[in-house]
Amino acid sequence: MSDNDTAPWAVRESARARRLAVRVHRTGRVEVVVPPRTPPGAVQRFIEAHRGWIEDRRAAALRSRPPQQPFPPENIETAASAERWRLHLAGGGGRLRLATYDHLLIVSGEGGPAALREKLLEWLMDRAQAVLEPLLAQVAREHGFSYGKVVIRRQRTRWGSCSSRGTISLNVCLLFQPPEVVRYLLVHELSHTRHMNHSPRFWACVASCCPQWRTLDRQLLQGWRHVPSWVFAATDA
Ligand SMILES: [Zn+2]
Repeated sequence: MSDNDTAPWAVRESARARRLAVRVHRTGRVEVVVPPRTPPGAVQRFIEAHRGWIEDRRAAALRSRPPQQPFPPENIETAASAERWRLHLAGGGGRLRLATYDHLLIVSGEGGPAALREKLLEWLMDRAQAVLEPLLAQVAREHGFSYGKVVIRRQRTRWGSCSSRGTISLNVCLLFQPPEVVRYLLVHELSHTRHMNHSPRFWACVASCCPQWRTLDRQLLQGWRHVPSWVFAATDA
């Protein structure tokens, strides 16, 4: 297998485990959970007995995991606005600060990777607001929707939502999705201002504004793979 995860599996002893169990993480890491004092031979035999299943699950996890990007990234590509930003680390002293010049993100000052990541996330949130808010207004105008305010969020599981008061929340990660997919999500949330459910009438409303909604909805489901890994710090690498 051509990835750089070192050991094929890790063995973790758990006082609560009654028998051997295997877990394949989203990152492709394989963990065997064993009761205390399990002899290594038993672990080996257990792995051999389940090898086919483990390999299949591991291959599937590796195929669907977002590519690990080195940090800091050289570029940040925001497909939604068809832009590519180049990161320039200028160094120097003082507080870490970020300025933009043309499509250059210039970060100067002192700070480690965590501080830099925070700065980039801050910029990303601002950028999402600047790109998505006018787009939402435009799509609403085109199809005669009205809504309350717009909130940008950074979430792992939801692309957007619409409250009963008409507040539309949009995931910052929409920036990494193609424009037609973003437009579909905006139509989807705006349609919730008329139908607060996923009833046939709701979908008819979506379809009237966005005939290709089925394809785009499927694309959005796969959209997490376009999100650079640094946006969500690796917690289970
Ligand atoms: Zn919905």
